[in-house]
Amino acid sequence: MATQRTFSIIKPDATERNLTGAINAVIEKAGLRIIGQRRIKMTREQAERFYGVHKERPFFGELVDFMTSGPVVVQVLEGENAVKAHRDVMGATNPEEAADGTIRKLYAKSIGENSVHGSDSEENADLEIRQFFSEAEIVG
Ligand code: ATP
Ligand code: MG
Repeated sequence: MATQRTFSIIKPDATERNLTGAINAVIEKAGLRIIGQRRIKMTREQAERFYGVHKERPFFGELVDFMTSGPVVVQVLEGENAVKAHRDVMGATNPEEAADGTIRKLYAKSIGENSVHGSDSEENADLEIRQFFSEAEIVG
């Protein structure tokens, strides 16, 4: 197993309910280290670029509206097989399908307002980290 980095977002539905610390506790309990973290309000440009892969999907406009509706916390996580470890602890996209103990099972409101994002591959993790962080902001 290799040490990896992945990119995480605590989404507006979670920051609005003051769940940043609760979600960080689940992330850390899963063995991941938060080695970069910043609270921001995403611009439409940032959200459209970030979710560009979904731009033809019917929910794209709603997704961009949601991601720019309030503060988000962008994070770099590090750990053994971090991409998969983080996806596992996030749970399924739809909270009704998420396993017990996962962040989405515990906290997500709906398939759209699902509290967290996590990169789905090492390649995307690298691109996403570089969209939001400079190397100097990541301290492992
Ligand atoms: P994320 O990329 O945010 O980590 P994911 O990889 O589990 O989530 P994707 O299929 O990449 O899921 O969808 C990206 C995001 O788009 C979802 O997290 C959710 O917020 C939103 N989304 C996905 N499917 C729907 C849907 N059917 N209706 C509304 N929003 C959706
Ligand atoms: Mg995704």
